[in-house]
Amino acid sequence: MDEVVQPFEAEVGRVLEIVVNSLYKDRAVFLRELISNASDACDKLRYESLSKPELLGTDPKLEIRILADPGANLLTVVDNGIGMDKDELAANLGTIARSGTARFLEQLTGDRASDVKLIGQFGVGFYSVFMVADKVVVRSTRAGQEKGWIWASDGKTGFTIREDEEPLPRGTAVTLHLKDDAKEFLDEAKIRTIVRTYSDHVGFPIVLEAKPKPGDTRTKAHEPTQINTGSALWARPRSEITEEQYREFYHHVAHRFDEPFARVHFTAEGTLSYTALLFVPSHRPFDLYDIKHRHGVRLYVRRVFITDQLEELLPRYLRFVAGVVDSEDLQLNVSRETLQHGTVVQKMRRQLTKRILDELARKAAEAGAAEAGGAAPAGADEGAARPNGEATTEAGAKGPSYLDWWAELGAVLKEGLYEDPENREKLLELARFRSTRGPGWVSLADYVARMRPGQDSIFYVTGENAEALRTSPQLEAALAKGCEVLLLDDAVDEFWLGEVKEYQGKKFVSLTKGEVDLSRIAEEGRIETPDELWDEDFKRLLAKLEALLAGEVKAVRASERLRESAVCLVADAQGLDFRLERILRQHQQIERLSKPILEVNGRHELVRKMAAMAKDPAREQDLAELARLLLDQARIVQGEPIPDPGAFSRRMSAFLAKGLPAAA
Ligand code: ADP
Repeated sequence: MDEVVQPFEAEVGRVLEIVVNSLYKDRAVFLRELISNASDACDKLRYESLSKPELLGTDPKLEIRILADPGANLLTVVDNGIGMDKDELAANLGTIARSGTARFLEQLTGDRASDVKLIGQFGVGFYSVFMVADKVVVRSTRAGQEKGWIWASDGKTGFTIREDEEPLPRGTAVTLHLKDDAKEFLDEAKIRTIVRTYSDHVGFPIVLEAKPKPGDTRTKAHEPTQINTGSALWARPRSEITEEQYREFYHHVAHRFDEPFARVHFTAEGTLSYTALLFVPSHRPFDLYDIKHRHGVRLYVRRVFITDQLEELLPRYLRFVAGVVDSEDLQLNVSRETLQHGTVVQKMRRQLTKRILDELARKAAEAGAAEAGGAAPAGADEGAARPNGEATTEAGAKGPSYLDWWAELGAVLKEGLYEDPENREKLLELARFRSTRGPGWVSLADYVARMRPGQDSIFYVTGENAEALRTSPQLEAALAKGCEVLLLDDAVDEFWLGEVKEYQGKKFVSLTKGEVDLSRIAEEGRIETPDELWDEDFKRLLAKLEALLAGEVKAVRASERLRESAVCLVADAQGLDFRLERILRQHQQIERLSKPILEVNGRHELVRKMAAMAKDPAREQDLAELARLLLDQARIVQGEPIPDPGAFSRRMSAFLAKGLPAAA
């Protein structure tokens, strides 16, 4: 029968290309992926069978079998789980449903080293089979249906699907025609090792049936034997779980391949009984800002998988957390709606959130101590040695530091500052910021400890890029007085600053908004105070400038915050800060930007010259030109577009020409 080859979706094609170019160091991961999918399929069937027991029929024992046939060069992974019908085969194995995939692929540069790291975070799932196989056949029968289907592909052109004449009673069998250089994966001992390393946590039996190699007359075919422990990892005593098993379990639940940064594993007893095993990744998941972001926590009820869609189990700002929560209290047949609004889930959410934040705080403190004492990060055993025996520390030596972690995921955690008032204090302690103090990160506690005598606010500026913010003119006076300024460059900063007014009684004060009073802070160096006569001239200049620029600025006033620069823009005290306005404008939340205030530095030489000009009616025109030039200059420093760059350039050239000595 002639078969029509259906092409893979373009994104699959690209993933396959990556796979075939074998970016993975360790090809054995394909087996872990297949077992992981088989285990998910068994979980799904077990859940569906709660309401439809007939789905299990005469075959209620869910398991995964691995058949190795060296004679035929075939390796097959079989499960009697949920199975797939024709459409599901085409959709699941011919497209990549995961959100953010296209964007992820765009990030690939072709540079091997950096791509490997990215792909490690993405995981290619099923398609990893094409690292070791040049042909793959998937036979599947959806539970409850009669018809079975055969999907086949060489991993290059596309795939075919046809009806299976002798369908499996239920579930899926994935058969790999191994490449010549991949025959090692038929070796019984090798398979055992791989399963024990990567998949021992799987809660279903994994049974190996290996035929002897052709020509090997001494070994007989072994009886099928179970090669994994077969109990859910989280339900085992912590002391019996190795770091490696934890890591592999994390890879399984999170569909990620980085090192977990932190872990909490505990059993709650009391008003609520449940076990939780949750991981915080060390890298930002690639689809974190995607609306369809895959939620990472799975809910089980007494070891039976219920759902991985229950977002209410954790607050949104912890959406990078992956793991398992296994409840003893809930009903097996509980509906999603009941769960969503039920008090059990609400309570678990509070407790889980607390545990995770506490663990992060511990990591932060550990990092702080290491920094202070110059000590090496805590070793792998540190957690196990804690009095309650709760081993929650990842091997410290190779994991990222707290600050590295913050750089990856801090921006998401900051969403909690406005979403979760209950944990605000904890989150403020966890937060780290860029500051004018140096290139590193600072905590608010550090900031407050370093505040200058007379300083009672936490100063900050917000913008696109911390480095550019360092040289903002609005910081000049604060810096001259020795004050540290936080440089906030995450979009989310604008939003939490709207809600969080203070830390330890110290107000957060924007240096680009309203009037800033620095008068009570002791000056470090000596500054000149202008004489009284100057005052009059300066006031006249300000009034003139205000009249000249009336259409563009709300007001012109003397600046308390400038030292070296002549002018800067600030936002009105009653209005929104600059960056927030720009963000809201981008998202069409507001119609237009409001007019800024132009602040002028009365100590600047240029300003003094302009004041002299303002007294001379003959130089009115020059003053008007200069006023525009100064305003555009303030806009440029602020990172704002200037309305008429051509006019700006002409004015600039004209003034430069005037200032230069005449040509000989
Ligand atoms: P992922 O597991 O990350 O979703 P995969 O590429 O490994 O991605 O698998 C794609 C989809 O194919 C799975 O989400 C699942 O719906 C389906 N699938 C794969 N293997 C099986 C199986 N053995 N039984 C049922 N469905 C499967």
